[in-house]
Formats: sequence, C-alpha cells, structure tokens
Amino acid sequence: PDDAENFKFEAEVSRMLDIVVNSLYQNKDVFLRELISNASDALDKVRFLSISKPELLQGEEKLQVQIEFDSEASTLTIRDTGIGMTHDEMISNLGTVARSGTTRFLQGLKGADGESGQVSQIGQFGVGFYSAFLVADRVQVASKHPESDTQYVWTTTNGSSEFQIFADPRGTSLVRGTEITLFLKEDAIDYANETRLQTLAKHYSEFVTHPIYLRTEQTMEVEIEDDEDDAPAAEDEEKKEGEDDLEVEEEEEEAEGKPKKTKEVTTFEFEQLNGNPAIWTRSKEDISDEEYKAFYKVVSRDESSSAEHWSHFNAEGNINFKSLLYLPDTPPEAWMTGMQEMDKSGLSLYVRKVLISDEFELLPRYLAFLRGVVDSDDLPLNVNRETLQESKIIKVIKKKVVRKALEMIRNFMKEADKEAAEAKPAEDDEDDEDAPATTSKYNEWYSKFAPSLKMGALDDEPNRPKIMKLLRFKSSKTGEDGWTSLEQYVENMKDFQKEIYFVAGQDVESVEKSQFLETFSQKDVEVLYFLDPIDEYMASNVREFESAKFKNIATENIKLETEDDKDLATRREKFYKKKFKPLTKYLKKLYGPSIMRIAISSRLVSTPAIASSAEYGHSANMERIMRAQAY
Ligand code: ADP
Ligand code: MG
Repeated sequence: PDDAENFKFEAEVSRMLDIVVNSLYQNKDVFLRELISNASDALDKVRFLSISKPELLQGEEKLQVQIEFDSEASTLTIRDTGIGMTHDEMISNLGTVARSGTTRFLQGLKGADGESGQVSQIGQFGVGFYSAFLVADRVQVASKHPESDTQYVWTTTNGSSEFQIFADPRGTSLVRGTEITLFLKEDAIDYANETRLQTLAKHYSEFVTHPIYLRTEQTMEVEIEDDEDDAPAAEDEEKKEGEDDLEVEEEEEEAEGKPKKTKEVTTFEFEQLNGNPAIWTRSKEDISDEEYKAFYKVVSRDESSSAEHWSHFNAEGNINFKSLLYLPDTPPEAWMTGMQEMDKSGLSLYVRKVLISDEFELLPRYLAFLRGVVDSDDLPLNVNRETLQESKIIKVIKKKVVRKALEMIRNFMKEADKEAAEAKPAEDDEDDEDAPATTSKYNEWYSKFAPSLKMGALDDEPNRPKIMKLLRFKSSKTGEDGWTSLEQYVENMKDFQKEIYFVAGQDVESVEKSQFLETFSQKDVEVLYFLDPIDEYMASNVREFESAKFKNIATENIKLETEDDKDLATRREKFYKKKFKPLTKYLKKLYGPSIMRIAISSRLVSTPAIASSAEYGHSANMERIMRAQAY
C-alpha cells in the first residue's frame, strides 16, 4: 500500500535469515512449534497483564490459538488472541535481535565452530519467529494491541533485507492479538494439509496450556426439498427458524419412497488439537491417582499397558527440572515389538511444556521401558543436538532421573511386599515367618522385567548395589512358586555359610534334579536357582552381594561344613583317598587328557560319582548357553 513504511532489518537479522533459508535444514517442522509457542507466550502475557488491567480482555475473553490452511492458495495462518503488538513493537520485536530466542541463537552461533554446528541447531530448537522462513516465501503479520486503535501489518519476502509496516487495509479484523500468514514455499505446500497439521501440532504442542484449534472442512450430503413438494420456499425457511421439528419429520415421512435430491454442503469447524493438561507442572497434592493413570496413557501412547507406579518430582540445584516417571505394569508394546529403537529412552524432553525431543538418551538402555517426561527451563538454546546429548546438563538430568527411577522401583517393591505380608493369613506366621511374600505384586511385575534389571546390575556399576536389591530368584527354599531376594538370602544364611550358592539350569524341574543340591538340602542351606541365561553371566561379573561371593554349586571346591565337621571330613577324605588310589589312578589313565582330575569328594551323598567343572572354567550350564548361541 501507499502508506507502507519501509524498514531495513538489523544487520544481524539479515545474516540470520540468510542462514535459516540457506541451511535448508531437513526438519522444517519446527516452525509450527515456534509459532504456536510465540502465540502461547502472547496469551500468557495478556492473561497476566489483565489481572491488573481487566479492560485488556475487552471484546475477546477467549484465549486461544487458531490454525487455518488453504491448500489452493498454499497459505497457512496462525492466529492468537494474545497481547498483540503495536506499530513500534513490530519494528523492534520482528526487525531486531533484541529478542530472547533470537539473541540466544546468535550467541550460539558465536560459540559454534564450523557451519555444520550452525545448521543443525536450527532444526533442533528453531530460531523463534524466523523459523517461519523455513517454509514460507513471504510472511505477513497482522497484529492488534489492545491499547492501540490501529491494526498493523508487518510483511517481508524471503531473502529481502527490508520489511514493510502499514495500517491493515482490512481495518481491525482482529479484536486483539496476532495473525501470522505464511505464503508457503513450493517445497512446503504439503504443510497446508489437515492431517499434517494435526500430527505436528499434537506432537510438539500437545501440552500447551491454551487451546489450539485447527479449522477443518467438512463436506456433507444434505437433502434438498424436492421441486414436486409444493411447499413454498418461504414457508420452509420459517419452519427452520421456528425449529418446528415435528412438522419437518412428518414431511420426511411423506417423502419416503420417492427419490431424494441431495447436494454437497461444505461446513467449517474448529477442532481442538491439544487439550491434555501438562500435569507434571502441577503440584503433587492436587493430582489424583486417576489423573496420573490417565496421563500415563497420554505419554505412553500405549493401550496395552497401564501405570503400575510413578514418581513425580522437582529437581532443584544447578539444573532445575520437573519430571514425571512411570513404571508400566507390563512392558510397553513399542518396547516389546522393537518399535522403540534400542538406544531410545521412553522419556520426552520438554522446555516449558513444548516438546524439544523424544530422542534424547535420558535413560540408560536397561530402563528404556520407563515412560514419562522431563521439563526444564535451563536448557540452553545455543547448542545443537549432538552437543546437548553430550552436555553436562543432559548428564546431570540423566543421573538424577536414573536415581529416581531406581528409587521408584524400590518403593514399589517395599510397598507391594508389605501389602502382601499383611494380607498373609495369621496361622502361617508360626510356620515360616521369613518366607518371602509370594503373592507380592512386585513379584508379578518383576517376572516381566527381570532381564532388564539384571542387565542393569551388569552394566550400571555405580548403581549396582541398588539394582541388586531389586532382583529376585527362585531357590531350593521357595521352589517353583516363590521368590527370594538377595537381601533375604543373606539374612537366612547359616552361621558357617559365607557364600551365596546357586545352581544354574533351564527350569526349576531340571535344577531340582541336580545331584549337587543334595548336600545343601541335607544341611538346610538355601541354593538360588539361576534360570535366566543372564544370571550366571551376571554373577560371574558382579561376583558378590554384601561381601558374600556367588558360588556355583556345580563347581569344585565348595566347603560346606561346620568347624566340627571339618576335622572328621579331612580324616575321612584322607582315608578314602588312600583306599581308592588304585581306582582313581586307573580312571585317570582310562580317560586321559579329556578329564582334568579324578578326586575323592565329600560332596556326594547318594550318588557314586559326578562330573563337575573347574572353579574358574565354564560351568556346564554356561557351556549349554554358549553352544545354543554358537550356531
Ligand atoms: P522469543 O519467542 O524467544 O522471544 P521469537 O523470535 O520467537 O523470540 O519472537 C520474537 C518476538 O516477537 C517475541 O519475543 C515477541 O515479542 C514477538 N512475537 C512473536 N510472535 C508473537 C505473537 N504471536 N504475539 C505477540 N508477539 C509476538
Ligand atoms: Mg519464540
């Protein structure tokens, strides 16, 4: 227009626009997140200011974001009823780098070495308003500040070093707020698409406080009055206005059987895209269990599992963040079917309710079945994805989250065990007070997640002592149906016992047949059943629990005797050794190098002879596993 004023972008803005446009970063999607976030910021602002100045809300009470698209014109509009901008604010906010996001971005550039760093950070965090140019040739911003009488338009073309501002020729089409129209680039026209916009807005802005609506088109077939129906059109109209439903129905009945004329009618509707409250930002006391459980479904996007337990906490220190972690009751589907990538954790990273990424490794692999969110204000915008993953901040968050996660599992275990113990009938008490609570909900949960926890005990050395306490095993005392913990095992150890004994095999039935068990049963010494392939592997790496060493009862050199027994045993052994010398000599000769040693043993009770592995060699079970993996 004639009255348009021309302005030059500040030099740094031009430089940045250049980078944004020329980077051609593949993840252009972030523009929508940035524009919605700006709208949401503007809405927050007017809500805050209206507390002392209620007149700011006059004429438009509703605080909302509306998205509209026109696939024929290739335009996309994002409109809000936020605080809006005055003429001067448009110049300073959209034409200079005084603004926060932009400034931080440029600071980031100074620190980044090399072009690649510059480019990739755009994709991760966007550069605020200017990310509009990732998808638009021309951007037009119309804005009406509640304290300005005029609605102004700010516009610029991609690649230009200038922008214009003029009074909106449409007058004040907005009661209050800002409307940003993007004239989409050729290669970005597919953003003017209902499904695309729904998906994107839901992905990034699902938890934005203000409602986000998408204008959608509905085409309906509606019946039109038959010409033969001699009811005059005017009367028809009257009927509609009078809402004389009965009359209309009668008419329809009359028309039955006759061919009906229909026409297509297009209507528009605003469909709300978000609406899930970001409950992690609220205080714990105000959130019911039902809300927590419902929110699990939102974050996990998994219908097949539910929340078993959760931990909602505020981490304060050098790095502040809020987090809500969930323990699923069964392994989430994506995790089971491999749809969740191996190195991807089930946590999403938010900055003030806006999704930054769900691809950060915020949890170690062994805890990747957990679900939840982490939200931090402290994340810098001036680092790229790769750097952020390596950054101290992510490391600090990860460490804290892991600690909280293990704590959550431990709490669940304790509560479930306590509950089960209380539920136990009183008459049982006398029998076996220490018997592990076999009905504990934790056991049920554990049986589905055991391999992950064992993996954790192997991998996560700093947390190993904590993880070991979460493990459970079947044993010669619990049999098929029970479970015991290592803590419980150590507590039940005999006075003369210094080691944790285990026998490894495929299932309870086969390990219970083990000849080695006999001596232990006779002395009432509990033996753990290692039935998972990883168990023995773990034991040989972890070596001990609370300074009791793991010992495979199928290896030689297990001394299972009290001091009194010892003397007798040594004498007995000596006697038999001598007596059977001819036999052992003969057998050694017979088997030759295929056997390491023939020895007299005090470990056998009713079995005459046994083949066992050397203490530091592979056990028979490990050999079985290795053979199974070898082909
Ligand atoms: P940031 O959001 O980090 O401040 P942006 O580049 O995203 O940086 O936005 C620049 C500035 O433009 C904002 O700080 C705000 O003042 C103004 N702005 C952008 N979008 C809107 C909007 N929808 N309503 C009001 N002001 C806006
Ligand atoms: Mg912004």
